[in-house]
Amino acid sequence: MNSIVCKFGGTSVADSEKIKEVVSIIRSDSRRKLVVVSAPGKRFKEDEKITDLLYKCHEEGSRGKPVSGVFSLVKERYNEISENLGIGSKLREILEEIEENIKSGATADYTASRGEFLCALLLAEYLGAEFVDAADIIKLNENGTVDKNTYNLIGERVEKDKSYVIPGFYGSTSDGEIKVFSRGGSDITGALVARGTNASLYENWTDVSGILTADPRVVQNPIPIDRVTYRELRELAYLGASVFHEEAIFPVSEAGIPINIRNTNYPDHPGTTIVKEREVSPFPFTGLAGKTGFSLFYIEKLLLNREEDFISRLFSILRENKVNPRYIQSGCDSLIVVLGTEEIKDRENNLLKALKERLKAEHIKKMGSVALLGAVGEGISKKPEITSRLLNALVDSGLSVSLVEQGSSENSILFGVKEEDYEKSLKALYKVLA
Ligand code: ASP
Repeated sequence: MNSIVCKFGGTSVADSEKIKEVVSIIRSDSRRKLVVVSAPGKRFKEDEKITDLLYKCHEEGSRGKPVSGVFSLVKERYNEISENLGIGSKLREILEEIEENIKSGATADYTASRGEFLCALLLAEYLGAEFVDAADIIKLNENGTVDKNTYNLIGERVEKDKSYVIPGFYGSTSDGEIKVFSRGGSDITGALVARGTNASLYENWTDVSGILTADPRVVQNPIPIDRVTYRELRELAYLGASVFHEEAIFPVSEAGIPINIRNTNYPDHPGTTIVKEREVSPFPFTGLAGKTGFSLFYIEKLLLNREEDFISRLFSILRENKVNPRYIQSGCDSLIVVLGTEEIKDRENNLLKALKERLKAEHIKKMGSVALLGAVGEGISKKPEITSRLLNALVDSGLSVSLVEQGSSENSILFGVKEEDYEKSLKALYKVLA
């Protein structure tokens, strides 16, 4: 099917003017037949996202407080959109029904999902397309994973050459209960629809012109990456880049459907295209990502590399304490483990005690809080000259590096620096890329 699935994020459908822009984007290419939408997002910095308001409604309701106050803000937003677009004759009734359901104890997932439900209903009417409820085609298991039958349901429901609008962010379980994805999950819906209809392209329309080479809050005017592979995108997402939902990559990457991240405010900008393979330059440094919030632990034990079960004992202790190691580097007599600070917050003492007792190590200590920064690019770790330039950039800026990891992925080089040096380090590394 030579169709394009286009997903529009919350800022792209924040008000009636933005929705008109969305419609002109959809109409400018006849292949854009399948549209997935988020709930209206922020119109300005201090504004509230519809999804946040709906979660608030549920919270108030579940505490026995009246929900009408917060829900009236939701109503206002949709009424304004429908009035300005001259549509939504049934909106009032639908809003009333939703409010009643929330008052009588609807789940948080049902309540939150109504943001995308209403938005898709209005857009479908304005566009003259058919509305398809995600609850009928996106089937989720109790643990939140996507049921395999979803792709068939989507494929069977969608007819060639017809136009559809589908709400993002939710699906339903086998007994019909609404279940939402994690926040930002409309990206996943778009990816599932693209895969289920075997689309030729998955366009993801947002408010930035693609994936940027670095975090714009730290680096001034980073340029968008023009082409990137799924693998590189996974690495960037793992290290903190957050334009596209991490879980949305798999449905499309497995089928080799390219993703194009575009900006609704600059529809002519080509954005970033994410593909299976791309031509690799001799300087394969595509982008930088990073985040703070890691703790580094040092474990010393003479000849640990000769103890067959040392690593498996370490993993058992981490697993029993429900801690997922982010990185492990092992030497002959010592190793370092990087853990998420937030994850170990309430269990650090127990964990340290268990490590000391059961590993019988000479020395175990927490080395401090670190930020992890990654330089990502296809095959970058096989280019020692890039590693050396990056390391020099950090050292020349007077920064001390507590970890360099080059072996665990071919497509990234990782640096651990003191948490307080995060921004300075990102800027120093960016100079090598710019
Ligand atoms: N509206 C949901 C959220 O705010 C889902 C999405 O926008 O993708 O997280």
